[in-house]
Amino acid sequence: MAVRSLLIRSPTKRAVPPSEEIAIDHAGGALPVTFLRSARARRVSLRVDSARRRILLTAPLRMPFAVAVRFAETQAGWIAARLKRLPPRRPFGDGAEVPFFGVPHRIRHQPEARGTVWLEGAEIHVAGHAEHLARRLRDWLMAEVRQRAAPLAHAKAERIERTVKRISVRDSRTRWGSCGPDGGLSFSWRLVFAPPEVLDYLVAHEVAHLVHKNHGPRFWALTERLCDGPMAVPRAWLRANGEALLQYGA
Ligand SMILES: [Zn+2]
Repeated sequence: MAVRSLLIRSPTKRAVPPSEEIAIDHAGGALPVTFLRSARARRVSLRVDSARRRILLTAPLRMPFAVAVRFAETQAGWIAARLKRLPPRRPFGDGAEVPFFGVPHRIRHQPEARGTVWLEGAEIHVAGHAEHLARRLRDWLMAEVRQRAAPLAHAKAERIERTVKRISVRDSRTRWGSCGPDGGLSFSWRLVFAPPEVLDYLVAHEVAHLVHKNHGPRFWALTERLCDGPMAVPRAWLRANGEALLQYGA
């Protein structure tokens, strides 16, 4: 859930308080924790939001703040361990290494060059001012995902006599792909960092949703059939590396 959505207040609806950054004492230091209230929460809980590199403490609307904090304090060891285990951030910049469909590439900033972004061997060159590098590169990577996903999606849909209405590439941190009610498919641009079989699997997955709007056995059988290789490989890869993909360009 996006925190931003919690900040939009409507006078007719019950206002949900925005998130709040708090500190939990631990071993002579302080651990950063994001405190949230949720109308759906039945009890207080802690979870890792690796996409935004934070620990969420979620409490029911009416639970006293002090009770929630006391709970977090009893879990301080767990919080400290999980903060330490977050994958490192991988910002875009000159000299940084990023995988391009699974193959390591070095980013080269070319401030004097004309043009935008281009590939040269195992390097990705980015023209223009340094302050625009990250956005330019991201836009280019998004276009690359779209360029690869579109023919894959149309070919797979054709195999099952369906049509894909629209393909979009988004900056989603919560899902790798989705299939809208209108038959439009969308994919996370961060799939550009994963090996090609991962994008192939995601496309197969969303195309299979054109037939089955669920994750039942028939859905999985169809997804498997639409994949280029064994589906278990990219699924295992995503489980192991998904958190790390979210750290690029962040
Ligand atoms: Zn699905």
